[in-house]
Amino acid sequence: MSRNGEDGESPGDGYSLKALQAELRTFRDERDWAQFHDPKSLILALVGEVGELAELFQWVPADEAATQFSEPAKQQRAAEEMSDVLIYLLGLADVLEVDLLVAAREKLDASRQRFPAADLRGIAPEKR
Ligand SMILES: [Mg+2]
Repeated sequence: MSRNGEDGESPGDGYSLKALQAELRTFRDERDWAQFHDPKSLILALVGEVGELAELFQWVPADEAATQFSEPAKQQRAAEEMSDVLIYLLGLADVLEVDLLVAAREKLDASRQRFPAADLRGIAPEKR
């Protein structure tokens, strides 16, 4: 597995969230699982997967986490749990008819306004 941007082309290049979401919808529908994918159930599954990701880092000292998780086996485990998080988040977005790329871009634009780089460069953001 390669980290994004470190070694040129990645198999994920050109693959969109919409394409992944469509594949997930097919996976779900082939199993007739849409009946279980109400928003509450998807949120609980999402939170569970975030917990599994957090568990990997639970007792790793903060200043060692990046180094430890650059080791291929640990990076793979983190990637698996991050993928689970993304899959449930995309499922939730699908059920709620949210275009996550559009929503995230809007959120980023709002954050640029809320946290001007000129004022906050190198300063941890506080509740504003
Ligand atoms: Mg998992």
